[in-house]
Amino acid sequence: MLVYQIVVIDAMKSNKSLLGQRYDYPEFSQSARLHSSKEGARNEILKLLEQCEPESIACLCGEHQEKHIEVLATIDRWGLPVRTGLCKSCGLVRIEPRHNSSIYESIYKNIYWELSHGAKDLTEKRFLLSVKRAKPFADHLINNYKFAGKKLLEIGASYGAGLYRLKDEDCKKLVGYDYDKEFLKKGREYTGLDLRYGGVDEALIDKDKYDLVILRHVFEHFLKPSRELSSLSELLEEDGMLFIEVPGVFTVSFWYDDLLEYFDFFHPYSYTLSTLKNEMSKSGYVLHKADEHIYSFWHYKGNSLEIDPAINEASRVKNHLQHIERKRARRESFYSALPVKVILKFAYFGRTFQNWLFKKN
Ligand SMILES: [Zn+2]
Repeated sequence: MLVYQIVVIDAMKSNKSLLGQRYDYPEFSQSARLHSSKEGARNEILKLLEQCEPESIACLCGEHQEKHIEVLATIDRWGLPVRTGLCKSCGLVRIEPRHNSSIYESIYKNIYWELSHGAKDLTEKRFLLSVKRAKPFADHLINNYKFAGKKLLEIGASYGAGLYRLKDEDCKKLVGYDYDKEFLKKGREYTGLDLRYGGVDEALIDKDKYDLVILRHVFEHFLKPSRELSSLSELLEEDGMLFIEVPGVFTVSFWYDDLLEYFDFFHPYSYTLSTLKNEMSKSGYVLHKADEHIYSFWHYKGNSLEIDPAINEASRVKNHLQHIERKRARRESFYSALPVKVILKFAYFGRTFQNWLFKKN
């Protein structure tokens, strides 16, 4: 095991990412552009990571051999030293090797918010911005689910901006759970919703069951998805459904202009609809409706379902990510060409002059 771990760490340091050198050096990540509060959070995390080595983690398909990993990046969006690999056996993108759950818990508890958002902003203005951003999610749910008389639960609800969008849909019950007490307090004030402290485990203790359980940008953070899926099944009414939204691998461009932004220390697994389906099937969930965004609805059937071993998305994922990276490189070289820069400068001054000339008093 130790020898295997050494091989893995050496491979991490060999800096040969499939997507090119910019996926191996922190200067290409956000870290180079972080403002001071985020930079401080990043340095704190780096210190924490130095205290222990990451451990080798088998793919969710069971594959654990180093030769079956295609290295995509050895840094993440924050410039943190973490290796993201593509499993050649199934096509799942995962962090490997990975730090243990106590490291993740410590970062989530003390540093994560500062790293991802800078200073904590609990103002009503920020809350309303979150409500605005929740529109595509809420529209998708409203167009695909009949809410009247249903009991809804959201895990990782933050201050309830997503649930707030569903407040007028005649639900029988709307409940949200989150671990951040400050957000919960402000959320209750802004939304008037039933927002409770905790996550899946705390919701189980409360013993309520729901018609729809929502995981919005939460599932990709789970270190052990099968464990969470098993607990989540106990929160569902007999005909209940689980709704999962994660940033799908095939819609990277929807989320980010730069693929490097997609690789994230806090996303141990990045899914396509097919790799998500594999994991859900193993845990006894059947797909009701989904797309590659990924918005997905699942029914729980109880028994682990067979996975077709012939389904392997590795080459499709590889081709897609290489295509996205080539597009970024072309775009960047276009905008950095001198004639383009001059034209854009003139266009900018032209617009500013026009605004000044015709400005309303
Ligand atoms: Zn795999």
